[in-house]
Amino acid sequence: MSGNKTFTMIKPDAVADGHTGAIIKMIEEAGFKVVAMKKTQLTSEQAGQFYAVHKERPFYADLCRYMSSGAIVPMILEKSNAVADFRTLIGATDPAKADEGTVRKLYAKSIEANAIHGSDSDENAAIEGSFFFAGTEQY
Ligand code: ATP
Ligand code: MG
Repeated sequence: MSGNKTFTMIKPDAVADGHTGAIIKMIEEAGFKVVAMKKTQLTSEQAGQFYAVHKERPFYADLCRYMSSGAIVPMILEKSNAVADFRTLIGATDPAKADEGTVRKLYAKSIEANAIHGSDSDENAAIEGSFFFAGTEQY
């Protein structure tokens, strides 16, 4: 059975460009409830830890640099079928392939600077949520 929580973060390009509010509005209008949220910045080491699954990929060093280049807004979200529904809302990794009306179609600049992250499984949603919010109240 699919779970009711997922994890997201608005990435440095979208935060720097002033799209945080517009993106949170899209998330809430799609029926997700924000249960934890903050604004923070990762070190390159923390970004590397977060994306450790990609450490053998050619884009890993660039990804760590990009993800630690500015503020991000991580959030835990709640909704039925959260992981799959949120991946639909954000669209494909490459904005050129993302459907009309998705967050990445509207706000991503490139396959790397693609505005937003969305967990790819219930298990990773729990791991990624605790990465930022372990021991934090959720509402
Ligand atoms: P995310 O995990 O951030 O939600 P995703 O699941 O759509 O994105 P992944 O394959 O997990 O895509 O890649 C993680 C991130 O690495 C991407 O969101 C993007 O920022 C970056 N990335 C992925 N593929 C490439 C690539 N070919 N070149 C540059 N950066 C890439
Ligand atoms: Mg991913």
